[in-house]
Amino acid sequence: MSFALQGTMSVSVEDVATVITTVRQSAGLSKRKLAIAAGIEPSEVTRYENGDRVPTLARLRLIFKACGYELVVQAERVAPWFDPCGCNRIGCPECDALS
Ligand SMILES: [Zn+2]
Repeated sequence: MSFALQGTMSVSVEDVATVITTVRQSAGLSKRKLAIAAGIEPSEVTRYENGDRVPTLARLRLIFKACGYELVVQAERVAPWFDPCGCNRIGCPECDALS
């Protein structure tokens, strides 16, 4: 399973939380069982799934492995980002309209 993020440089806290819940539920694991398998505190799993905390990539990899998945991070080189409206922000609607 891979989560490819296209056209963006980051994933929001809520998105990571949803991914963890989805992967855990698809494995049929309770939060507690996932925590034991991944060697982390059950409260930590709850924090991740509530979006209160974002796991490191290494920790996320462990969580995926405990659920029977390999985490694949995919980055595709696309046309370099430029800043047509001068706002210096990726994802600005004005820049997108000018691109
Ligand atoms: Zn802009």
